[in-house]
Amino acid sequence: MRPLLDHYSRPLRDLRISVTDRCNMRCPYCMPKEVFGRGFAFMPNSELLSFEELTRVCRIVAELGVSKIRLTGGEPLLRRELERLVAMLAQVHGIDDIALTTNGILLASKAQALKDAGLSRVTVSLDALDERVFHSMSDTRLPLARILEGIDAADAVGLSPVKINMVVRRGVNDDCVLDMAEYFRNSSRTLRFIEYMDVGTTNEWKLDEVVPAAQIVEMIGARWPLQALPVSRDGEVASRYRYLDGAGEIGFIHSVSEPFCSGCTRARMSADGKLYTCLFASEGHDLRARVRSDASDEELGSYVREIWRARSDRYSAERAQLNPTMPPKRVEMSYIGG
Ligand code: SAM
Ligand code: SF4
Ligand code: SF4
Repeated sequence: MRPLLDHYSRPLRDLRISVTDRCNMRCPYCMPKEVFGRGFAFMPNSELLSFEELTRVCRIVAELGVSKIRLTGGEPLLRRELERLVAMLAQVHGIDDIALTTNGILLASKAQALKDAGLSRVTVSLDALDERVFHSMSDTRLPLARILEGIDAADAVGLSPVKINMVVRRGVNDDCVLDMAEYFRNSSRTLRFIEYMDVGTTNEWKLDEVVPAAQIVEMIGARWPLQALPVSRDGEVASRYRYLDGAGEIGFIHSVSEPFCSGCTRARMSADGKLYTCLFASEGHDLRARVRSDASDEELGSYVREIWRARSDRYSAERAQLNPTMPPKRVEMSYIGG
């Protein structure tokens, strides 16, 4: 099968699916309470793609070259019986990797069922180990210990190596970097530092709050010497380093300071079935309308194929060149999935 390529010859390999727009946290960099407060209208259940509809979409995109699915949100573990969806996706021919990104609060109780259903991997977002800083990064009173239990449970059932994602904001949690590195050194978990991104329009992002990955490498390397590792596979977005003393690996996702658009093979789908070809897109393509019409699988496949062929997104690369034509309206991370 000839690979389906976009305008810049990038194949379609991964699909990130947001299974809900709801969340049990209110990280100000993602879902600030002032916007996502009590009065916010989340999607009614009837608007969410059902597990059957999601599985059909995955079958269709698998035929176009997708082999990796990541379930995200909002908080994906708030979607009831998510393990049932995982089991259905695990049956789709061509899908060989099903991953989950979660804030970890509900992970301890779900890890075994998810593993049994066929989940391959889990990434847990955790921005600090200091309870006070954790609360300000997540704007919640939920106990940090529950996330650590979730990570342990994922490890114990074999959803390993668990990846830990830490978004770093200057002046908020940048002084937690070394503590986090120390905690996850010599463990089976891989810590990855993520540059705070200007995704969406509600988080009032400012460039001076971004701590460039290079600064974090320097900070950690000064304490525990590091060595850069070669790129491990196509579409890998993190640059990886190993501790010279043998304490394991860490990764950096430098989407702001060193964009990786040229290797971006990822499509995203919101919980109500809109397909996005970039995290920073302003408009999605309404797959749900077609899924709920009498369109055949072939027609749906052609629709996605045309969307991907026309794809010319390279937002972060253009941002890096300070291109003034950046779209002002951008979809929110909690809607489209991180
Ligand atoms: N609720 C789940 C979680 O937090 O893991 C899944 C959805 S969340 C939108 C996915 C990832 O996006 C998380 O790792 C989160 O830290 C990251 N994220 C959200 N907003 C971000 C931003 N403005 N910049 C960088 N990463 C962000
Ligand atoms: Fe929720 Fe994840 Fe966004 Fe935090 S980053 S508000 S946990 S969706
Ligand atoms: Fe991919 Fe868009 Fe991010 Fe570039 S900005 S890496 S095209 S999602």
